[in-house]
Amino acid sequence: MILPISTYGSPILRKKAEPVEEITPELLELANNMLETMYKANGVGLAAPQVGKSIRLVVIDLAKEDEEHRPIILFNPEVVPEEGENPVETYEEGCLSVPDVWANVSRPSRVRLTYTNEKGERVVLQNITGKFARCAQHEQDHLNGILFTDKISVADKAMNASKLKKMAKENK
Ligand SMILES: [Zn+2]
Repeated sequence: MILPISTYGSPILRKKAEPVEEITPELLELANNMLETMYKANGVGLAAPQVGKSIRLVVIDLAKEDEEHRPIILFNPEVVPEEGENPVETYEEGCLSVPDVWANVSRPSRVRLTYTNEKGERVVLQNITGKFARCAQHEQDHLNGILFTDKISVADKAMNASKLKKMAKENK
């Protein structure tokens, strides 16, 4: 089922999401609906608050368009920068909740991702880099009420100010 995506200005995008206590069939169905919604919108990641549920659930699929789907369902994900040398990387981001806005965001290049998978197993992935690290950090921010537009330069903010203002007004 395709779910409606909350966009910039919706209060739910600014709330800190609640931890998932138990993985129920309903939550697995929600995760699958989120994947379907994300694929339809050509996204690579989607967090539950973006579909109106303030819980710590994220779906990610980094497979390219011509590849088989490789969905990852993450309950209660935690992303931390790895220790040691970890240069900040700047890369252009967009967001299904902030349509038509793309801008550079700087983030640590190497992170550790811990999450509970759909079978209830806790998984630890160390030294994640590239697109996966970027996406995990972006989605993690969603669970804490943070949007990528909070992290863009003053110039990019100014350039997108009218679009953001318009969306915020529509979603008030
Ligand atoms: Zn996003």
